[in-house]
Amino acid sequence: MNATVGSDVRALLDWYLQAGVDETVGEAPVNRFEAVPPAKEFPKPSAPPPSHSVQVKREPAADRPRPASADESQSLAEHIAAACNTLDELADAIANFNGCNLKNTATNTVFADGNPTGRIMIVGEAPGADEDRQGKPFVGVSGQLLDRMMAAAGYSRSDALYISNILPWRPPGNRKPTPVEVAICLPFIRRHIALKRPEVLMLAGGTSLSALMATELGITRMRGRWMSLSLGDFEVPVMPTYHPAFLLRQPARKAEAWRDILEIKARLANAD
Ligand code: URA
Repeated sequence: MNATVGSDVRALLDWYLQAGVDETVGEAPVNRFEAVPPAKEFPKPSAPPPSHSVQVKREPAADRPRPASADESQSLAEHIAAACNTLDELADAIANFNGCNLKNTATNTVFADGNPTGRIMIVGEAPGADEDRQGKPFVGVSGQLLDRMMAAAGYSRSDALYISNILPWRPPGNRKPTPVEVAICLPFIRRHIALKRPEVLMLAGGTSLSALMATELGITRMRGRWMSLSLGDFEVPVMPTYHPAFLLRQPARKAEAWRDILEIKARLANAD
């Protein structure tokens, strides 16, 4: 490609980005709704990757079971999640799971970031464009706000924080995840929390609140109130708070979120 053509292509790509285009698709159509019969046996998770890095690249799907219905996907997810005994096994199993349509359009499986032994686990909604590109949760502008707020309370990803989402794949165009997508992926984040065993679980926003806690009430009513989540033999105190993306739109609500973070700090100080 000569220099003039290269700069024309770059200008065209910039134009697309400014117009809001952030996805590319192939030229050949793919029937994503075609049902493939499920495999009789569910696979055991393979050996965990060697490092503590839990960022997982999407794998080709050809020989893996692809469930035919949402119910089958959910029970497959439950079965697979229950068979995982470490965070690395779970990361690997999610990256190889083909039961959620969101994986088809995602670039990366976004599992977690931060310190797997950190005291606080934060669960958001789903990766956005930056997270999908980098394979890590909360690395875009809302993640930067989250980091700044937590740092002001003395917490960082390298120390006290471990961060994940209800969904490990980005919904295209950052749309709201559907109830079916949330239900299919829920066994994974529940197992994730149970394996991680944080001292406190902070839920960022209404999607993680409604997915994980049995409440009809929204985040505005529930934020700042301690709740409790039981996962088998593990029980964890839960602090729901606003999603940082909401705080970017409504900066006046930051004071409430700051109070919620200070609640967490006080609880951890009492436990010391
Ligand atoms: N919003 C979320 O809920 N999670 C992310 O990882 C990024 C933005």
